[in-house]
Amino acid sequence: MAELEFQGAARTVTGSMHVLHTAEGKFLMDCGLFQGRRHESDEKNRRFPFRPGSVDGLLLSHAHIDHSGNIPHLVREGFSGPVFATGATCDLCEIMLADSGHIQEEDARFWNEKRARSPREFIEPLYTAEDARAAQAQFRAVEYAQPVEFAPGCTATWIEAGHILGSACLLVELRHSEPVRLLYTGDLGRFDVPILRDPTCPLPQADYLITECTYADRTHANPTDMKQQLVRIIRETREAGGKVIIPAFSVGRTQTIVYYLHQAVAEGLLEPLPIFVDSPLSTNATEVFKKHPECYDEEAKDFWQEQGSIFGRKLVNYITDTDSSKRLNDLSDPAVIIASSGMCEAGRIKHHLKNNVEDEANTVVIVGFMAQHTLGRRIVERREEIKIYGRMYKLLARVEVLNGFSAHADRNDFKKLLGPLAKTLKGAFVVHGEGSQPAGMKEILTGAGMPEDRIHVPAPGQKFTLE
Ligand SMILES: [Zn+2]
Ligand SMILES: [Zn+2]
Repeated sequence: MAELEFQGAARTVTGSMHVLHTAEGKFLMDCGLFQGRRHESDEKNRRFPFRPGSVDGLLLSHAHIDHSGNIPHLVREGFSGPVFATGATCDLCEIMLADSGHIQEEDARFWNEKRARSPREFIEPLYTAEDARAAQAQFRAVEYAQPVEFAPGCTATWIEAGHILGSACLLVELRHSEPVRLLYTGDLGRFDVPILRDPTCPLPQADYLITECTYADRTHANPTDMKQQLVRIIRETREAGGKVIIPAFSVGRTQTIVYYLHQAVAEGLLEPLPIFVDSPLSTNATEVFKKHPECYDEEAKDFWQEQGSIFGRKLVNYITDTDSSKRLNDLSDPAVIIASSGMCEAGRIKHHLKNNVEDEANTVVIVGFMAQHTLGRRIVERREEIKIYGRMYKLLARVEVLNGFSAHADRNDFKKLLGPLAKTLKGAFVVHGEGSQPAGMKEILTGAGMPEDRIHVPAPGQKFTLE
């Protein structure tokens, strides 16, 4: 008899990891990093609730670090089985996990040099960039919609989730004497977002559902207005003789913005102007996007065929080395600079903000969620002064906040995607959410006809039998 054990993303958002125990072995669905308060998340990331060597295989939904980020650590601690994921997810993990390893090394170095009071308090990085590269050997690329037998009589099928490039929901089928169909949503995306295909709708029928619920309690702004908004902001800023600075996550958000700008220029909505993507990770991620046109939606495929590229081959300058990045400081004419990190806490974006926020001709465009206590949040709040590298700067540049870019399904998307399944489910497990979010999902499922006593919000360590 199969059993499900909840460990990560149980009553919280990050650290996705669900354990499937079957007669054939122990399998993980995702193995993500807990993110948030350093001490608390560090402890959870460092200790696996099982012996990593005892895990037989891993089914990975998508490349985001809260789903994949602990894989190199799992491998270093003895896991030697295969990691199944779509081709695009494998390629994104290659660059994102190496980057994550690099961040772990930097974090440990910072702690040991600045915070530790004695050598006894020194910490080792959770894993290194080298560990991440070594883990890559265990990745196995799978096709969408093709069942993969990960153990005798056990198959998994990766189904388009529309969340990021390569993202999937997992349909796990255990063909025992009592067959079981389990659907794990991973992270669900939205309809009509650029580049990506829509999530598969409705999702396949199953006996059990593990579903994320991050935005089950709210609705998003319409994604289709975002291109027009960007064009308006760039035009206005150019007329004022200023520059547009866009802090953006390297994977997904940066490519969406570049795609919009390329489209706008091709459609004659925007006069070409210098556009810079200033981040090695964004540049590498864009290469992965270019390598996987099979994941594009019809519109992006057509545009790709027409233009030979959807990421502004002639229009956009991709910058990887620091000298070229520094040269952007001398730029005096109107331009668009897209740089990481997304919440303005690290990376090259801080230099661009430092150089540009005190000029009222410039505009800072916020295109992503800004957590509390980040520089990005202080910009969203339009503070009079902001601190960058220990110095106060007047925030005189215009700030525009565009809220329509979310990569997560909202309440209406969930109703459409999960509603048709709800009535026949034997059990649903609500994960990847906190506060009022799980209750939002309960409301969606009961509203679609599922009895409330079959819906669970599992606590870490809780187990359930699948029958
Ligand atoms: Zn995600
Ligand atoms: Zn997630």
